[in-house]
Amino acid sequence: MTPAKRKITILSGDGIGPEVVDAAIAIIKATGVAVEFEKCEAGARAFEKGIVTGIPKDTIQSIERNRVVLKGPLETPIGYGNRSANVTLRTLFETYGNIRPVRELPGVQTAFTGRALDIVIVRENIEDLYAGIEYMQTPGVAESLKLISREGCEKIVKLAFAFALAEGRKAVHCATKSNILKLTEGLLQHTFEELAPGYPSITSKHILIDNCAHQLAMRPEQFDVIVTTNMNGDILSDLTSGLTGGLGFAPSANIGNDVAIFEAVHGSAPDIAGKNKANPTALVLSGAMMLRHIGEGKAANDVEQAVLVTLESGIRTSDMMGVDKPASTTDFTQAVIANLGKTSRLSPPKKYAEVKLPPAQLGVNVVSAKDRRLAGVDIYIESNLEPKGLAAELEKLTTSSPFALQMITNRGAIVFPASDRRVSLVDHYRCRFVLRDSAGKFGDPEILSLLGSVGARFRWMHIEKLQEFDGEQAYSKSQV
Ligand code: NAP
Repeated sequence: MTPAKRKITILSGDGIGPEVVDAAIAIIKATGVAVEFEKCEAGARAFEKGIVTGIPKDTIQSIERNRVVLKGPLETPIGYGNRSANVTLRTLFETYGNIRPVRELPGVQTAFTGRALDIVIVRENIEDLYAGIEYMQTPGVAESLKLISREGCEKIVKLAFAFALAEGRKAVHCATKSNILKLTEGLLQHTFEELAPGYPSITSKHILIDNCAHQLAMRPEQFDVIVTTNMNGDILSDLTSGLTGGLGFAPSANIGNDVAIFEAVHGSAPDIAGKNKANPTALVLSGAMMLRHIGEGKAANDVEQAVLVTLESGIRTSDMMGVDKPASTTDFTQAVIANLGKTSRLSPPKKYAEVKLPPAQLGVNVVSAKDRRLAGVDIYIESNLEPKGLAAELEKLTTSSPFALQMITNRGAIVFPASDRRVSLVDHYRCRFVLRDSAGKFGDPEILSLLGSVGARFRWMHIEKLQEFDGEQAYSKSQV
């Protein structure tokens, strides 16, 4: 009896999606690997049908069954739904890690040709600002919550090291903005520094994200694997794709506990959609990553090698530098198929081992503190008063309260007590209250009473408790 074929969910996507996905399917089929494709809908057409997530139920069920997806780019048309269908997919299936490798490719001329670049961005994929928790705090001030968890940091750091080990890589950099965002970005840095000694064969180093971007432009060959937070990784990986030939060459894998989604880094490129011009390499190489993920290492190597041989032979799509007579998407695809079974002269197959994923942590993951203390409370209010006048009013409202006004900030800058700094003000203030008796204790009743007093005169948007965990201040100080 012939063994059952492994089923893969296919989302062709929008714009150039169907063209590049069809190219990848044709090449994968031509390897003779035992897979079967189940085409499902997602993205623009689903939004147009009124499916607010852009992901129909049938598609979700197919992914749940098959657990492996090859997808084209999805658009989120303006005016339909609130969320990106991509973000919904990543969140729904908790694909927490996004692996984005780039390398110098033969025949692809760039400013860095000859420097043997081979860099992988491992990007956290579901937390951070991309959780999309946003509020208009006043009609003129917007807020986005950047939520980073210890659990999310552990998973992405472990994935980065597991990936580095599987590919025999030598170094992992952790890139964050922890000098400014000490608690959120700092959590990834601290988690990385805590876990890195568990991987003694790999050199580990923290680097600030802005310096990382600079170093990538100046001396990119120093990087091997870079692990970073969601938004930093999104930006940095477009940058690294630019170093090696552009978005048309950058594949990616979204890795979760149960589901993995393989797609190009690029979007739907509507300007070239339907013109048979798109470079399918990124999606084809994403297909190779998918084959490796399902244990079809030989087919994965065959696809990669056929792409390399095709590029070496001078067949190029129009997005590549110095191309006179560009190949169409279909011409390029046919050339790759014809080159299956050949080995690149310049980039022979690499050795890959299975990526040993960190075990899934089920249930609610808790980081506990032995000791907790409340130091005060920040109340965010809307007011068109100048800081001095606002402070006088707040002090009047709280004379009989156990809390005293400690400071007021406007967009992060201290404006009360008096600061030399000149800031242009907006009608959005953070007002920090602390206990008059610093050794005292308080709880929710006292906070609610304070909120009642302040709220009687001012419109408030939210409050934050100033907490201390095991003696450590768990809130940020003001910048100035
Ligand atoms: P984009 O689609 O990646 O395209 C930017 C430009 O890159 C294109 O105009 C084209 O440049 C070039 N390009 C990208 N892929 C190419 C390929 N395979 N072959 C040749 N050239 C390629 O970025 P965007 O214009 O910012 O985004 C368009 C839409 O895609 C948006 O709706 C966005 O939300 C969505 N998007 C989806 C995903 C995803 O599904 N994962 C990711 C990113 C963006 P030229 O002008 O030189 O032709």
